Parts: sequence; structure tokens; C-alpha cells
Amino acid sequence: MRLFTAVEPPPEAVVQLSSTVHTGRELFPELRWTSPEDWHLTLVFLGDVPDELVPDLTEGLGRAVAGHHPLSLEVDGWGTFPERSRRSSVLWAGFTGDTEPLTDLAVDLREAARGVGLHVTDMPYVPHLTVARSRPARDLRRTLHELTVPQGPTWRVGEVHLVESVPGRGPRYRTVRTWPLPWKTHPDRTSERSTS
Ligand code: ATP
Ligand code: MG
Repeated sequence: MRLFTAVEPPPEAVVQLSSTVHTGRELFPELRWTSPEDWHLTLVFLGDVPDELVPDLTEGLGRAVAGHHPLSLEVDGWGTFPERSRRSSVLWAGFTGDTEPLTDLAVDLREAARGVGLHVTDMPYVPHLTVARSRPARDLRRTLHELTVPQGPTWRVGEVHLVESVPGRGPRYRTVRTWPLPWKTHPDRTSERSTS
């Protein structure tokens, strides 16, 4: 099955971003705008995973998630793939905040996927949420400038999902597994508890 790992936006972030994206939808109907209910921030695209690899993969990804902690992100501006090009095919919202711990998490998840024999990209990780696609690729720089820059809210990221990308009609994505990001333990507080 076609799999990826991702983080989901909190509902208030979806509401906020929807209102910003609304302008873009009206001005540029020729783009394929993604549906707010499908919005996600991909950590690692895993591609087609043979069924027999899924149990080991899931275990490895879970172990990787367990080594990280909750983090905070905010949507901050727009970008395209390829960037600054006359022929871009993806328009996305970018992030600020704990992007370094997020990148560390993505890198560990990539490593876990490689550990079970999957080929994953070694391109630099760019945290982004795809809001529109263009086929054929076109100059999206004007689109980018017409959109206002979204302001907040903070995404408090407490879990990571393994998601199946479902071909054909119906829901595009199906959550296969969810792992919580464990809170950091404070050794001093632990000892307080144990002595009381
Ligand atoms: P579709 O390809 O049918 O238009 P989609 O791109 O949402 O839909 P997938 O191609 O299965 O579905 O991708 C799932 C997620 O992984 C999406 O967020 C997508 O942007 C991302 N993704 C897909 N291919 C790659 C890749 N080669 N590198 C990085 N991320 C990718
Ligand atoms: Mg795709």
C-alpha cells in the first residue's frame, strides 16, 4: 500500500488557513486546490510498501517517534515546488517554530524506513502543506503574491500518523496508525514524586 507519515493540523488552523486559501481558489480556479479535510504536513513519503514489510516498518517508525517530543509550529508564508520557477507544480504553506525538531523527527523516520529496506529521499526536508497543484506546471509566483500571509494559530503537535494514500474515488487518505510524541520527563519532578 501507498504510505506516508504525517502530522495533522488542529481544527482552528484549518479554519484559519481555509479563509486565506479562499481568495486563491476564487482568483485561480484553474489550479487543483486541495480539500481542507485532506490537509496534512508530510514527514516522510514512503511510497508503495509491500504488505510483508508493513509490520517491521510500523515497529521501526514507532520506535523513531518515541525518541522525539511534542512541538509547536505556525504556518508562515507560501512557497512552490520547484521554488522561484516559471514552471512550478505545487503551491504550499510553509512553517516556522520548531522546524528543527520537526526535521530531526523526519530524518529519524526516513532512517527507520531505510532500516526495513525502503528507498526514501535524501533531499533536504522542507516542511510544507500542499494547498494547490498545477498540471501542467506553470508560473505560480503571481498566485503566491496574491495570497495574504496567514497569521497563527499555533499548531501543538502531539502525535504522528502513518497514513495510507487510497487510490480511486472516496476518501483520499486513511490513518493506519497513530503514535503520541512522548513528553519530556523531568528528572527532578520524578524524584519529587518518588520521595513524597
Ligand atoms: P495525488 O498524487 O493523487 O495527487 P497526493 O500527492 O496527495 O495525491 P500521494 O502522492 O500518495 O498523494 O502523496 C502523499 C503525501 O506525500 C502528499 O503530501 C504528497 O505531497 C507527499 N509526497 C508524494 N510524493 C512525494 C515525494 N516524492 N517526496 C516527498 N513527498 C511526497
Ligand atoms: Mg502525489
